[in-house]
Amino acid sequence: MRRTPESTPCQGRPEFTSDDREVLLRVAMVCFHCPIRVACREGAEARGEQFGVWGGKVFGGHKKPGPKGPRSHCQRGHDLTVEGAVYVSPRGDRECRTCANARSARRWRRIAEAKFNSLNGANQ
Ligand code: SF4
Ligand SMILES: [Zn+2]
Repeated sequence: MRRTPESTPCQGRPEFTSDDREVLLRVAMVCFHCPIRVACREGAEARGEQFGVWGGKVFGGHKKPGPKGPRSHCQRGHDLTVEGAVYVSPRGDRECRTCANARSARRWRRIAEAKFNSLNGANQ
């Protein structure tokens, strides 16, 4: 790996030789402020670099693996693998049944409180 002069924007930044393509794409713009951008890219092409950002061009790198299959837990940590844990709404949205029940309980509590307040004049 040769990048000269020493003051180029990528100095000391390991992201530039990451093997994660998303990281490379994120940092590649920095090269457009670099005075040796063209020479850097041409050099990398000539050497057959396999990974990294060189002169604003992304070489190789892997895509991050996506989520593998359905999730085993919801955002709040409820187990989604047990029978009946996933609620499918009439619109086909899937969500954690425990969270959905809690949300609906909160909603009914708000409605009940509003009714109670209107009957008993909580704001007077
Ligand atoms: S063009 Fe990019 S990779 Fe090449 S030396 Fe400049 S900042 Fe570093
Ligand atoms: Zn949940």
